[in-house]
Amino acid sequence: LMQLYQPLNFLGIVYMSIKQGLVDMEQMFTLLRVEQEIADKAGAIALAAHLSDGAAGEVVFDDVRFGYQSNRAILKGVSFTVPAGGKLAIVGPTGAGKSTISRLLFRFYDVTAGRILIDGQDIRDVTQDSLRAAIGVVPQDTVLFNDTIRYNIGYGRPGATEAEIQQAARQAQVHDFVMRLPEGYDTRVGERGLKLSGGEKQRVAIARTILKDPRILILDEATSALDTRTEQEIQSALRAVANRRTTLVIAHRLSTVVDADEIIVLQDGQIAERGRHADLLAEGGLYARMWALQAAEQDQREPQPIPAE
Ligand code: ADP
Repeated sequence: LMQLYQPLNFLGIVYMSIKQGLVDMEQMFTLLRVEQEIADKAGAIALAAHLSDGAAGEVVFDDVRFGYQSNRAILKGVSFTVPAGGKLAIVGPTGAGKSTISRLLFRFYDVTAGRILIDGQDIRDVTQDSLRAAIGVVPQDTVLFNDTIRYNIGYGRPGATEAEIQQAARQAQVHDFVMRLPEGYDTRVGERGLKLSGGEKQRVAIARTILKDPRILILDEATSALDTRTEQEIQSALRAVANRRTTLVIAHRLSTVVDADEIIVLQDGQIAERGRHADLLAEGGLYARMWALQAAEQDQREPQPIPAE
C-alpha cells in the first residue's frame, strides 16, 4: 500500500476519481504499468533524502524533452535551475505541461531527451526509493485515509514518535485544531470519519510532509479561490514546510509567486517568459496579463476584513 499511495496521492485526479466512484481502471493500470517500466539501474546509488541529513537539493532541468506518446511532444526543451533551498514558480495555461514537470522530477516517466539532475546526479542513476523519499508533494486536494489523524500525519515517516507527530502538526498549524477535537489525535477522519474542511485537510497533508522531511518540495496549488482565512492558514503552514527546502510550485496565486527566485511561464511545452515577478510585470507579456486578470477577479469579490498579524 505504501508503494501505491505516493503515486496515487500525487496524481490527485486519479485518486479523486476513485473517491468519487468513477474509477477509470484503464488510467489506473496505465499508471501502474508506467511504475513498473521505470526500473533501478544496476548499481543505482541512494540519494541523500532528508533535509536533516544536510542534503542540499539543487534541481536542474537540462533541455528536457518529453511526450506521453511518441508522436506528441509535451515538453519541448525545458531548462531551469533551482538552487538548493530556492523557489521556482511554474505558471501557465492548463495543458501547458506544468504537472508533467513534477511527474518527471518524481520519475514517473523518463525524459525523452535532456537530463534532470539533483545535486548534479542524473535521477536515472539513483534508486527510486531514495528519489521518492527526497521529494515531498503537497497536492491540490488531499485525500485522507479512513483512519485517525495520528495515522494520517504519522504516515509521513513510519516509526515516528508521538512527540514528532505533534511537533510536525504544530509547525503545520493544525495541532491546536486537533486538540480541540474531543478525541484529539485519535479522531478518525476521511470518508467514514470526521469530515475536515479543505484547509484542515491541506494542513494535515503539510504536517505529513514536514514529518517526511524531504529536501525537495513540490506544491500543487489549488486553482479554486479560497476564502481569505483559509488561504492565510494554508500559506503560513506552507511557509513552514518550504523553509530551507528546494521548492517547485505550480502556482495559481499571486501571493505565492511574488517571492519566487524565478518564475517560468510555460506555454505549449516551452518557457515563454522567465524572471522575477517585478521584471515579468514590467515586460507586459503573458505573465502581466495573467495577473492583471487575477487582480480584476479579486476586486470583484467581497471585500475581506484585514486580519491582524
Ligand atoms: P498542466 O499541468 O500545465 O495543466 P499537464 O502537464 O497536466 O499540463 O499536461 C500537458 C499535456 O499533456 C496536456 O495536453 C495533457 O492532455 C497531456 N497529458 C497529461 N497527462 C497525460 C497522460 N498520462 N497521457 C497522455 N497525455 C497526457
